[in-house]
Amino acid sequence: MTFTVTLIPGDGIGPELADATVTVLEATGIAFEWKRVEAGESQIAAHGTPLPEAVLDSIRETRVALKGPITTPIGEGFRSVNVTLRQALDLYANLRPAQSMKGIDTRYQDVDLVIVRENTEDLYGGIEHRVGKDAAESIKIITRYASERIARFAFDYAVANGRRKVTAVHKANILKLSDGLFLESCRTVAAEYEGRVEFEDRIIDNMCMQLVQKPEIYDVLVLPNLYGDIVSDLAAGLVGGLGVAPGANIGESAAVFEPVHGSAPKYAGKDVANPTALILSGALMLRHLGETEAAERVERATREVIAEGRTLPRDLGGEAGTRQFAAAVAERVSAVLVAP
Ligand code: NAD
Repeated sequence: MTFTVTLIPGDGIGPELADATVTVLEATGIAFEWKRVEAGESQIAAHGTPLPEAVLDSIRETRVALKGPITTPIGEGFRSVNVTLRQALDLYANLRPAQSMKGIDTRYQDVDLVIVRENTEDLYGGIEHRVGKDAAESIKIITRYASERIARFAFDYAVANGRRKVTAVHKANILKLSDGLFLESCRTVAAEYEGRVEFEDRIIDNMCMQLVQKPEIYDVLVLPNLYGDIVSDLAAGLVGGLGVAPGANIGESAAVFEPVHGSAPKYAGKDVANPTALILSGALMLRHLGETEAAERVERATREVIAEGRTLPRDLGGEAGTRQFAAAVAERVSAVLVAP
């Protein structure tokens, strides 16, 4: 069987990370047909937008995409390609696992968090305007529909992956209506899973403090869009930084797999960026495609190469280039046998 996948290399370090990841995924022996489409800065001159319609069309057709990061210029101009993509395809769940890895020098060795971020509303709706010259207003939207949907995703994920607890994160003490509705929705859904998955809630500021003090006591976190964005970078920092943090954007009719990190323009084309985050996003994609054994092989190979410490990318303290690291992982993927 051949899997047809949309491949969006992206901006900055994206293309070299995409090449590295394709090398690793193909080492599993699974056949892929890559539909390569371009999005990002390079497309603006020709198409008037960094997100040509052909990109959305391709994902609608293949229903699964592997995506490198895309630059979003700050200030006036185009909306973020990433936000537009998630909203246009209703990729409502942003899944970001953060797991400690042997061989990466961090403060904790036992972090195993899964961040589930609502991806379609909150302050990311793009509803903002200036109020006169010296003020601006951004509107935060929270609906029961989207909040219950993301809570259900988090609980279903917990059940399917043998996780014990879901923690809803909010600021309902201050944002009584919007975050209050998010929390109320999470509680409603939690009741459906009583006896199967534990539920608790935390206020976002307290959550941040607790995550840097005792991250090991948390499991699956479910958050509205903005807190999820911030806390997933915090969680990435706990396990070794952005170079190793994978992600997935999942909806009913399509899924896009991409790292948490951005396009790191200063490293573009230098063969120094760490491809681990995109490689592990590729492993999440394999799971989504039902190729669990291949996903485990990719994850295990990546972990083994990092744990051995002989071929480490620079952000992890080594000297290996992007290609050299990917080649080491690909070689291990071909060699690794998953225990029955
Ligand atoms: P960034 O993640 O690109 O980089 C921050 C720093 O993290 C880098 O300077 C680098 O030191 C490190 N880093 C990130 N990825 C790495 C990797 N794979 N290997 C080694 N080191 C790595 O964040 P930024 O500088 O805030 O954003 C740059 C651009 O990326 C912006 O235009 C931003 O909007 C965009 N961005 C895109 C996405 C996405 O496409 N999903 C996500 C975040 C940011």
